[in-house]
Amino acid sequence: MRAATLLVELDGLVVRRVERQTDGSRLVWLETVDEAARACPSCGVFASRVKGVVRTRPRDLPCGSAGLRLEWVKRRWYCDEAGCARGSFTESLPAVPARARLTARLRAEAGRRVVDGVCATVVAAARSLGLSWPTVMDAVRRQAADLDGGAAPPVEVLGIDEVRRGRPRWWPAGGPTAAPALPAAEPEPQDGEPAGGEPAKARVLADRWHVGFTDLAGGQGMLGQVEGRTADDVAYWLASQSAAWRDRVRYVAIDMCTVFVAAVRRSLPHATLVVDHFHVVQLANDAVAEVRRRVTTVLRGRRGRDSDPEWKIRNLLRRNREDLTDRQLAKLWNTLIDLGEPGQTILTAWIAKEELRHLLALARTHPDRTVIAHRLTRFYTWCADAAVPELERLATTVSTWWDRIEAFLHTGITNATSEGHNRVVKLDARNAFGYRNPENQRLRTRCATTRRTRGCRRIQAVIATHASPANR
Ligand SMILES: [Zn+2]
Repeated sequence: MRAATLLVELDGLVVRRVERQTDGSRLVWLETVDEAARACPSCGVFASRVKGVVRTRPRDLPCGSAGLRLEWVKRRWYCDEAGCARGSFTESLPAVPARARLTARLRAEAGRRVVDGVCATVVAAARSLGLSWPTVMDAVRRQAADLDGGAAPPVEVLGIDEVRRGRPRWWPAGGPTAAPALPAAEPEPQDGEPAGGEPAKARVLADRWHVGFTDLAGGQGMLGQVEGRTADDVAYWLASQSAAWRDRVRYVAIDMCTVFVAAVRRSLPHATLVVDHFHVVQLANDAVAEVRRRVTTVLRGRRGRDSDPEWKIRNLLRRNREDLTDRQLAKLWNTLIDLGEPGQTILTAWIAKEELRHLLALARTHPDRTVIAHRLTRFYTWCADAAVPELERLATTVSTWWDRIEAFLHTGITNATSEGHNRVVKLDARNAFGYRNPENQRLRTRCATTRRTRGCRRIQAVIATHASPANR
């Protein structure tokens, strides 16, 4: 039976015999060999007088196609120590703790499957191991305790980004004028779209946002989330960290969002704010698209159609100059020149975008201040000379945010990690069909966004798990 003991490998227990049951499963009889099991849990003295024998059936990890049933024959002991209040006790081992109906390794595996992403959801892990949802969730909380417990780890570069939690709930335009008193009285939501195509009359009932705080330099994942996205919400999370933690933050990467600026100014006055090229270029691309749409409206008195030449090149306009082939560039250029003056307006906007990108390309090259000033002036001059309202607005925005954009040119810090984590967070929520409990969501977010640093492999297919009768 030594071979069987080695196979089952439960610390402190030996296999006495293995029986085949009528339903095909295997029954493993276990006995205690670890002397420590005799130690009284109250006083620690080894007992020597047996009170009786009890049998327990702890559940264990799946093994083989039909799994194993465990039957542990353990003794009850009298504690004869004079000063001990405990009269008797039953043997227990770390592998199968007292009163536990699961082995410690089954519980740990249930938690690990969710925390490390082997199973996408708690339900999936519960099904694969034949456990209930609360049992697995409890194991997840234990497993993730050191990820989510206590203060945030020290951070030098902090990223702040917002992410929507669930879908916005609309009160449809045709509904009664008064909002329901209780959220429970909500009518069927209109699938994210206002009813009747009249967005002005439909009202948003609930639109929940989380603001996430990410460690951008140290790879410690998403540190925390707060509900809501006002300056107070963000400042509250920052203020709830220790003063030493706040002092260590040197850079904060944000979207072009004044709410975050206000919060960071209030709570981290010494930190340098950084806005990365992604959001600036996005703004420039939006300006080009706006110009294109306005030109179409002026030229044709209607919205763009797929027969309009400027509509056909709309995707080329979004591309970067260096990503265009010679043919594509020629097509873009000639189409706009052929359109005459309106086309040239679009071309002007596109060149303004490229001037801005030329400036942003200086990031991570340790640029000289004069080079930056030169390229910035070129961009401003181009926008001023163009006399296109969209470009004037773009130049104004760039000048408003210039300090933070310049900080990006010097540091090269981007908020891309935060954006990446948002994708993970959304995927996680989608797999779970949304979360009811924001606390659980934060815990799971923490697990999901630290996987890479914790060295977990990419999410694998769920390990073959035909729950055996013993594991059901
Ligand atoms: Zn005792």
